[in-house]
Amino acid sequence: MKLNELKPGRSAVIEAVGGEGALRQHFLDMGMIPGTEVTVVKLAPMGDPMELRIHGYELTLRLADAEKIDITPVEKKTAEEEKKTPRSPEHPGLGEEGRFHPKGTGDPLPEGTTLTFALVGNQNSGKTTLFNQLTGSSQHVGNFPGVTVDRKDGVIRGHSDTLVTDLPGIYSMSPYSSEELVSRDFVLKGHPKAIINIVDATNIERNLYLTMQLLEMNIPMVVALNMMDELRGNGGTVDVNAMEAMLGVPVVPISAAKNEGVDELISHAIHVAKYQEKPLQQDFCGVEDHGGAVHRALHAVSHLIEDHAKRAELPVRFSASKLIVGDPLLLEQLELDQNESEMLEHLVLQMEKERGMDRAAAIADMRFAFIRKVCDAAVIRPRESKERVRSEKIDRVLTGRYTAIPFFILIMGAVFYLTFFLIGPFLQDLLQSGIDALAGAAERGMEAANVNATIQKLVLNGIFEGVGTVVSFLPIIVILFFFLSMLEDSGYIARVAFFMDKLLRRIGLSGRSIVPMLIGFGCTVPAVMSTRTLPSDRDRRMTILLTPFMSCTAKMPIYGFFVSAFFPRAGWLIILGLYLLGIAVGILVALLFRKTLFRGEAVPFVMELPNYRLPTPRNVIQLLWEKAKDFLRRAFSVILIATIVVWFLKSFDFRLNLVTDSHDSILAAIAGLIAPVLKPVGLGDWRIVTSLICGFMAKESVVSIMETLFGGGLAALGTLTAASMLAFSLLYTPCVAAIAAIRREMGRKWALGVVLWQCAVAWIVALVIRLIGSLF
Ligand code: GDP
Ligand code: MG
Repeated sequence: MKLNELKPGRSAVIEAVGGEGALRQHFLDMGMIPGTEVTVVKLAPMGDPMELRIHGYELTLRLADAEKIDITPVEKKTAEEEKKTPRSPEHPGLGEEGRFHPKGTGDPLPEGTTLTFALVGNQNSGKTTLFNQLTGSSQHVGNFPGVTVDRKDGVIRGHSDTLVTDLPGIYSMSPYSSEELVSRDFVLKGHPKAIINIVDATNIERNLYLTMQLLEMNIPMVVALNMMDELRGNGGTVDVNAMEAMLGVPVVPISAAKNEGVDELISHAIHVAKYQEKPLQQDFCGVEDHGGAVHRALHAVSHLIEDHAKRAELPVRFSASKLIVGDPLLLEQLELDQNESEMLEHLVLQMEKERGMDRAAAIADMRFAFIRKVCDAAVIRPRESKERVRSEKIDRVLTGRYTAIPFFILIMGAVFYLTFFLIGPFLQDLLQSGIDALAGAAERGMEAANVNATIQKLVLNGIFEGVGTVVSFLPIIVILFFFLSMLEDSGYIARVAFFMDKLLRRIGLSGRSIVPMLIGFGCTVPAVMSTRTLPSDRDRRMTILLTPFMSCTAKMPIYGFFVSAFFPRAGWLIILGLYLLGIAVGILVALLFRKTLFRGEAVPFVMELPNYRLPTPRNVIQLLWEKAKDFLRRAFSVILIATIVVWFLKSFDFRLNLVTDSHDSILAAIAGLIAPVLKPVGLGDWRIVTSLICGFMAKESVVSIMETLFGGGLAALGTLTAASMLAFSLLYTPCVAAIAAIRREMGRKWALGVVLWQCAVAWIVALVIRLIGSLF
């Protein structure tokens, strides 16, 4: 029987896993190995994909992929689990010194060496939370060299000679998505002095899979056992000493959210890094395990390649297990000769024959077998976690058959309503009156000091009105980011991806693409970056090209500005319409791409569905603070400069005489060159052209420039022009920051293509609007 035929609520044991290549490896890495029990939790509202429970966590899988997995149904849930009586823990754990880790005093690294740490863990294991706890406010965000994955570095508070790097969340060291490749490269080539491996204690089996691969890297390491508060709250616990003994590295139980055990973690981390205490255990294959086939193969291959691995500066054990699975990247780096390659193949074939499983499955199985041993010896599982039960209850509604889509619309509607109508405008008005008061004071001050009239105008029109208008949108932007990040951190966005998968497949994408698109409503730059989590290049590129059509928050000031000037009564309808227009154009473009540039199918959709969790206030505040800082920095750099330059150009002619009518200015002359192109769509006014050009620097500056150039004369434009302008600003080229992000992801040609292509799309849509509008 195939997995896709299994009814919701029923369980089965996996017999064989079909498919091939990276995808199959990914199935195995996620724990879908022969002999494992799976339970179908439910089908998505549209019938596809399915939600599975395996190794105690939830996973999504499309029916088409489930068809590749052979199963034997099991009748009733095994009673075995029920009868296991909880042992009383010999060791309470939290904050206790591990017995195993005596903190030796060998030769420490010389004083003054910077202790660099890589923070590695699964997605949703609490990495960001721990990182914020470790570093306090001393972090800075950058990119990994050569790639646009957010790189966060920070100094551990109180230890100035340390540097922690937060790596992208990964499930395995086999590069399935580009994020996994980044993390793997960082650990292999970045030579961190130690690894801090964060493990979600409530999901320990799947998390330890990565831990075992990290141990093979032979780099000093500590395991931070996170979410202990939850585990404890549900009556579970971990015998830390037993686990330390089996893993050969310090294991520190913590709760990142409650800041418990973090100091202990820091002291252990610094110790292993300073004394370069390597993991004591890398040998996880059992001698008796299924006749020891895997054990013998691993050791034989280790010996075979030992010298090559040394030369290539790669950890031996890691190389051996990767070679057996057939990792092309490593095979190349190790430079085996013909004889050795053949020997390797023979060893692996022999192992497959003896073990009765193919190579990838055999290795994954060996790892999970060891994990089971660790869990049996050291983990006292909670009966049924409160959080799990709560998540299931919430999911009955939020991913329920008839309720999922209505609730999605309701939730998104509520977010936009709160942001744009209830809280946002109130704060915006407050801020605006503050800015106005400041402007008034500045005017009186300059008047009293007899400042030159031209300068006065620059300050008042250019800076206070122009930049001030932009700054007044800060509350709206911060609030929208607040909601988006709440949705993401709580685990809801993963659900959206789950039930939207089928729809997104229609336009040639997978449910995962919904994440970048929703982030795109905040800002295109992080949205483009977040496509790194998509496992296929095709999906990634296509998603990147669609995100700029989502209305980012920088376009919000433009909408607000025009709506209040031209459509004061139907304001929210117009804004909603613009959001929908962006989405509709995005869908059309996707359909077009699917038929032309990006033929083929979206990649399989294998994704974890984490329990719902309340994001910690600290994470949220930190994020909002970053966004606000970023926005203000832009307002007072790019936008301020653009506004001043434009003000200058519109006030002087080519002989640098002050002009009375800005029609004669330098600016009018320059903009006049481009104006003919925009004339057919009704945007031929040089002032509009100028603001659009400046909008390329930062979308918000469209508003400040319009404010500077039109002053009070905006109404003369007419509603039809305003409508064209709104559509055009929504769709035309993304700002330089977004283009730069796209360039880093896809190269120069694509970035240039995006600029031209989106201008063309905007032009066409604006024309259509104008044509339709002129009928009335
Ligand atoms: P990341 O994806 O690995 O960066 O994980 P995050 O740091 O974003 O955390 C995922 C979720 O788990 C968030 O909602 C956190 O608030 C929550 N969380 C993190 N650490 C803990 C913890 O120690 N206990 C509990 N109960 N929740 C936590
Ligand atoms: Mg995170």
